[in-house]
Amino acid sequence: MDTSVEIFKVKREWMNQIIKNHRMPFATQQPRDPITDEKGSVAVGLEGLVYTIGVVGVNEMVQFHTGKQMHESREAWKLAVRAMTEMEIYAKKLSQQHGMTIALARTPAETTAQRFAVSDLIHEEFRDYAEKVVKGDLDAVKRNVQKTRDLPVYYTNGTHLPPGADVTIFERAKLEHVFFPIVDGGNIFHIFMGEATPDPQGLMDFGMRLARETQIGYFTFSRDMTVCLGCSQVSGGLEDKCPKCGSEDVDHISRITGYLQAVSGWNSAKRQELKDRKRYNELA
Ligand SMILES: [Zn+2]
Repeated sequence: MDTSVEIFKVKREWMNQIIKNHRMPFATQQPRDPITDEKGSVAVGLEGLVYTIGVVGVNEMVQFHTGKQMHESREAWKLAVRAMTEMEIYAKKLSQQHGMTIALARTPAETTAQRFAVSDLIHEEFRDYAEKVVKGDLDAVKRNVQKTRDLPVYYTNGTHLPPGADVTIFERAKLEHVFFPIVDGGNIFHIFMGEATPDPQGLMDFGMRLARETQIGYFTFSRDMTVCLGCSQVSGGLEDKCPKCGSEDVDHISRITGYLQAVSGWNSAKRQELKDRKRYNELA
């Protein structure tokens, strides 16, 4: 976090230079009042800029220290809560010390989740440790590491349970919801749906339960889809062939962080995560 602040200072200095030299005309414009023709205040208040520190791999951090993942032991989960709480307090302290608003938040970081894992695995000092906790396909890494850095390994994003954790959806909610009030924003609770067509009343009931019984402020229901590039048919699940016309020219659509995207554009770690995901047909 101290290192992050040093980077933020470089950024702030750089932005000040840009503004001083009038290289940010849109954000710094002062629109005129249409009636009085007087110049108004600067369009974007850059003084109020929030500098965000995000986390990746909290689950792997506690797994490294305790030998268990967040859903496998109460101690491991408590260490995650404690670490995040301490970081949130420290972020407040840094904000005061350096006169900038520093937020501890969950950031999208889907590329970082892979990058950190790959960086650790190719680093002599960290390789042995990383191999014990990294998620994904380590054999594929060993086969391909000389050829590419786009490898199917990742650290679990943010403060989530690992995508493949074999727990019920409500257990997942009960373990993840405590992190929502700790971070300053950006957190999200994923409900990855199974093959079955969801019952609208079931979705409604589960949504209400999350709203009433947990501190989760933001949740998504996601269903995988197959899009036929031949006949444009959209069907549920990840199919190799279009169920309507039989074409194998299909793309898959799913959610990786906030958005639904075509899986063909994902890096191999994201695709691995899609494979590892525990999906839920029963919402209870
Ligand atoms: Zn088709």
